Amino acid sequence: MEVKTVFKKTRKGRQGYSFNMESIADKSIEDFLPNDMCRQAPLNLPELSELDVVRHYTQLSQLNYSIDTHYYPLGSCTMKYNPRINEEMSELEGFALTHPMQYQYTVQGNLRLMSDLGDLLKTITGMDAVTLQPAAGAHGELTGLLMIRACLTDRGDARKKVIIPDSAHGTNPSTASLCGYQVVTVKTTPEGFMDPEAIKEVMDHDVACLMVTNPSTLGVFEKNIKEITDIVHSHGGLVYCDGANLNAILGHVLMADLGVDCLHINLHKTFSTPHGGGGPGAGPVVVKKELEPYLPVPVIARTEHGRYSAIFDRPKSIGRVRAFFGNFGMLVRAYTYIREYGAEGLKSISDMAVLNANYVRARLKGHLELACTAPSMHEVVFSDKSFKQYDVKTLDIAKRLLDLGFHAPTVYFPIIVSGAIMIEPTETESKETIDLFCDAMIQILKEAKETPELLKEAPVTAPCKRLDEVKAVREPKLREDIE
Ligand SMILES: *Cc1c(COP(=O)(O)O)cnc(C)c1O
Repeated sequence: MEVKTVFKKTRKGRQGYSFNMESIADKSIEDFLPNDMCRQAPLNLPELSELDVVRHYTQLSQLNYSIDTHYYPLGSCTMKYNPRINEEMSELEGFALTHPMQYQYTVQGNLRLMSDLGDLLKTITGMDAVTLQPAAGAHGELTGLLMIRACLTDRGDARKKVIIPDSAHGTNPSTASLCGYQVVTVKTTPEGFMDPEAIKEVMDHDVACLMVTNPSTLGVFEKNIKEITDIVHSHGGLVYCDGANLNAILGHVLMADLGVDCLHINLHKTFSTPHGGGGPGAGPVVVKKELEPYLPVPVIARTEHGRYSAIFDRPKSIGRVRAFFGNFGMLVRAYTYIREYGAEGLKSISDMAVLNANYVRARLKGHLELACTAPSMHEVVFSDKSFKQYDVKTLDIAKRLLDLGFHAPTVYFPIIVSGAIMIEPTETESKETIDLFCDAMIQILKEAKETPELLKEAPVTAPCKRLDEVKAVREPKLREDIE
């Protein structure tokens, strides 16, 4: 379906409003506005009937691709269903209509919600203290590394390097560089795990921390994580964990037990607050006792007489990382979600997320080459090895999926896998939906062999055909020229 811009539908004299001119017939424009403020030439507005306008916007809205319309197996992004009860709770007047600068005694409920959510996140991870302020995962990383830097500087032991495995999320090395650290990359084993020997080799007294994504971007749980964090600690370093993939281990593993000192959590992934299109998200950070003094301000706490308070007087704090209290609406949604599921429910989320990913793995592994042999957690990664020989690229497979009614998985990430296809079904999809997706993948892989030109032309049913991806980035055409 192509939607023309309203300017192409315009017809002179057509109008969608009615205005009673008689009531102002005896007035001139100066009765309302001084002459020098009046427009001298008519505004170039499209001329359309009300029905034209209604159809235009309704058709535009139908182009929207979302989790509410389609399956969305975008690996690493955890595009799970966002329960509607979350939305209802965030719309309650007491939450939605409060102002961040209100006196604290008038917003005790909001402060309590933040305090209680913080406690829940601490319980879920086994950590000691929390900040809810960061607005995204990457922002949580920045906050975490700034705390680690402040802590080490305070010890009189400022260090220069951060160790990051090559299976980490791309934001990890970016964050480390942004904080002024030199990044030391270590290779994962062919199986897909971090290697304690490789860490031992690069670990010295100039390493501030290890930054590890666990489960990693290969969808793998680091089985040697405790041994590795012990190595880092024995050299006086700290351990940062990217916990964006917490939905794989909820209720089964306490991050604190693995030797993690600092961890961010993506509420907009694991805890079902909506995301995509650039936000808003929330990336709370939980820390061990040692890092608590450095938490950003304000810290929300329960004080005497059962009152809640936002505390700013914290001399060692890294300061503010976000205006006011972070993305409060997201916090209400995540709180609702956690309370709705309860401890047993949260466990069943990760059980199902892992089961679904392994079902996809089992159905597709005869058709696609696995990126690594390690067991899959919440997502499964394949390479382009099985279809490269037909001169078909990962991108062609992804585009063809759009024709068959599915959002493409994450492609070409992680970069350590040739032509990676990263599928994360999430726990909210039914077996029937996952089967339809796997059927489509298998059909496409058959086409790759027999009719590869079909894949090269795809997508043919989408509103935009195949774009020149480089040109689309370098010279984006963001508006229609109007004659
Ligand atoms: C999504 C993700 C991030 C970044 O989170 P944002 O909220 O997009 O900034 C970091 N690490 C991992 C492993 C992720 O999946």
